[in-house]
Parts: sequence; C-alpha cells; structure tokens
Amino acid sequence: MPLECRSGRAGVVLLGGATFDESAVQLASALATQGMTAYDNAWLFSRVQELATTDELTGQHNRRHFYALAGTLVKAACRADHPLAAAMIDIDKFKTINDTYGHGVGDEVIRTVASRVRDSIRAADVLGRYGGEEFAVVLPDHADAPGVAERMRRAVADTPVPTPAGPIEVTISVGLTQLTSGESLDQLLARADHALYQAKDTGRNRVVVS
Ligand code: GH3
Ligand code: MG
Ligand code: MG
Repeated sequence: MPLECRSGRAGVVLLGGATFDESAVQLASALATQGMTAYDNAWLFSRVQELATTDELTGQHNRRHFYALAGTLVKAACRADHPLAAAMIDIDKFKTINDTYGHGVGDEVIRTVASRVRDSIRAADVLGRYGGEEFAVVLPDHADAPGVAERMRRAVADTPVPTPAGPIEVTISVGLTQLTSGESLDQLLARADHALYQAKDTGRNRVVVS
C-alpha cells in the first residue's frame, strides 16, 4: 500500500499473513489515505509552530517564545527557591560592522554570535534573540553563572568571525544578575539590562554582574 503525502511518496505499508480480497484492499487504501492526511496536518502544524517561535536568522527562540519559556523557569525557580541567573548580551559597535561591511555580513555576525553563545550554555538554559543584535539568556540552577557568562564572552572574542568579507573581530558585552525571591521576569531582565549598560559604559567586551 503506497503512502502519499503532500511532498510525494512517503513510504509503503506491506500487509501480509492473510489473503486480501478487493474490498479489504480498498479499506486498507482508504485508511492509508486518512492516515497520511493526519500526517500532513501534523507536519504543517509543527512547521507553523516552529515559524511562530523561532527567529529565522539565528534559529534561536524569538522574543515572544523566549518570554514564555523564561517566565516558566522564573516561576519554577521562585516556587522551589532554586537559584536562577539571567544575562542580557549585546554585540559591541555593531553599527560599525554593518556600515563597514554591509548588512549581509552583519547578519552573518549575528548568526555566528548566537551559535557561539548557544554552544557555551547547557541544553536546559534558554536563549532568545531579544532584538536586532541583542540576546537574553536564562540560566537555571548554575553554580557559577558568572563563569558561564565569561565563557560566552570568550567564545565570541577569542576567534574572529569568518565572513565573506574575511574574518572580523567581534566582541560582546554581558549584563548578568541573579533572581531574588518573588521577582518577575521583567524585573530580572531590567536589572540584567542595567548591568549591560554598565558593561558598555566601562569599555565593552566584558561581563558586569549586578
Ligand atoms: P554598542 O556597542 O553601544 O552596542 O554599539 P552598537 O553600534 O552595537 O549600537 P546598537 O546596539 O544600538 O546598534 C544596533 C544596530 O544593529 C542598529 C541596527 O542597524 C543593527 N541591526 C538591528 N537588527 C539587525 C539585523 O537583523 N541585521 C543587521 N545586519 N543589523 C541589524
Ligand atoms: Mg550593540
Ligand atoms: Mg543593541
């Protein structure tokens, strides 16, 4: 029994162990068609969900989805009285990169920074693209959040970003803070943002802990 989905042939079901008359074959065919309609719908649903939650450029969570996931983590940490840290990250002097090399190269830099930051954290940590060249991270249950933030900073600064215009030296500034009991995600991120401003003010390419 061939299985057809929207994009073409998906596979074949082999029926055996009995003899099948014409009506049994028709029934099996109808069931296979219904099954594949359900498969198509499920695929479309997951694709729509992915488009609605993922930032297209970086493949990371978009701002809205980051908020939903991070909000859940903050509530859970408050309830269980577990430690949780949040960091705001902004690429330094990014306008100069855009102005010097063009928007396409700028996009490549954003993509690489996102991937290096993602590689510096754990699967359970939540990273989102917060704005143009700004990212937010929530780190639940880390014994050494400042160490993680410093690892992100070095992951970006230590190796120039390869681009079609050649390797470009890129740095990030990071504002880091710890959740205090009963606090909301907005309050937490506002404090991380304040620390980020301090990192910018005091020379960039650094982590400031608030
Ligand atoms: P600072 O060190 O103070 O952060 O300086 P900056 O130049 O990075 O300043 P700012 O963070 O304000 O610059 C953000 C720039 O990012 C402005 C905007 O043109 C650019 N930008 C925002 N979104 C995108 C994007 O998706 N692609 C590209 N290529 N550029 C973007
Ligand atoms: Mg910037
Ligand atoms: Mg910015």
